[in-house]
Amino acid sequence: MKEILQNYNFDELKALVAEMGEKPFRAKQLFSGIMRGHNISDIPALPKAFTSRLLERFEDCAIEIVQTLTSSDGTEKYLFRLADGNIIEGVLMKYKYGNTQCVSTQVGCRMGCKFCASTLGGLVRNLSSGEILSQVLKVNALHGGTPEKRAVTNVVLMGSGEPLDNYENVVKFIRDMAAEGGINISPRNVSLSTCGLVPRMYDLAEEGLPVNLTVSLHNVSDGERARTMPIAKRYTIAEILDACSNYFNKTGRRYIFEYSLIEGENADISHARALIALLKGRPCHVNLIRLNEVKERKLMAASENMAHEFLKTLTEGGISATLRRRTGADIGGACGQLRASYLKG
Ligand code: SAH
Repeated sequence: MKEILQNYNFDELKALVAEMGEKPFRAKQLFSGIMRGHNISDIPALPKAFTSRLLERFEDCAIEIVQTLTSSDGTEKYLFRLADGNIIEGVLMKYKYGNTQCVSTQVGCRMGCKFCASTLGGLVRNLSSGEILSQVLKVNALHGGTPEKRAVTNVVLMGSGEPLDNYENVVKFIRDMAAEGGINISPRNVSLSTCGLVPRMYDLAEEGLPVNLTVSLHNVSDGERARTMPIAKRYTIAEILDACSNYFNKTGRRYIFEYSLIEGENADISHARALIALLKGRPCHVNLIRLNEVKERKLMAASENMAHEFLKTLTEGGISATLRRRTGADIGGACGQLRASYLKG
């Protein structure tokens, strides 16, 4: 596959245009076209000869939406095809305050979490920064958004892949998405979710990017956590909590823990009590969600009742927590489910 133009920020486009011997204002046209979600051949006002030269070097279409599913709750799920034919997925969740898009950072994933559909076939490859950005540009355009009036207001890195396992491209994506004159989504409106790659959590704290750090905790002891999350054998919960404290000290931003409630694994009241002991006094929030059951996996969601009890215990114990609705459950809302069924079909 050829390179994609979406990997280039404005300065890099200026250098490219100069290198190709074109007038400097062409960089602005390219940038504006890209940020509107256009393919190269659809960018207005480019001379035909320049377009053809670009197409010799770059893919016309970085990413294409090949399927859209709409849930009864308004959530939309997309299948995207990349220029090399790989398939990834994404979600748009509609809230009162705006639209949050969930993007993928890798094709597949190598973290091996037992409850997750994204990791079923292992890691295929990393996405480039432009492939991650293109997901947002395409969905924004699909909903009539422009850089001046965005349809996508928030972005979560919670689709397929482990963002910190594709560190450089993910950080470039966050910076490029924040660029002025571009789609201009601030890191403050971006949440990065990790299964807990501790050294990279420290690196992220040094980037000067005020993204919301979210950690998939899903258990309270290292031994039990390792049953569903192999990464728990590499980094302990204590190490994760230290990395979170460092993140808070460096960025001033409170952090979030994801806790998917799985029957017989992590959802007893004893787990809730241990979680209180672990997190008490920390500048954090806990996002509870009942497991989205994945066909290929044996794990079951905790009942609604258990989930509400868990939430009540945490709240009474002084922990800031919410139980999220399972948006889009009727359209394969969990990570990787749609792609897995598409690849099979
Ligand atoms: N790799 C990153 C981000 C991707 S997943 C991470 O591990 O955080 C986004 C969130 O969905 C994570 O908290 C993940 O653990 C959770 N998740 C994955 N599969 C799920 C499922 N079937 N039901 C509920 N949550 C799930």
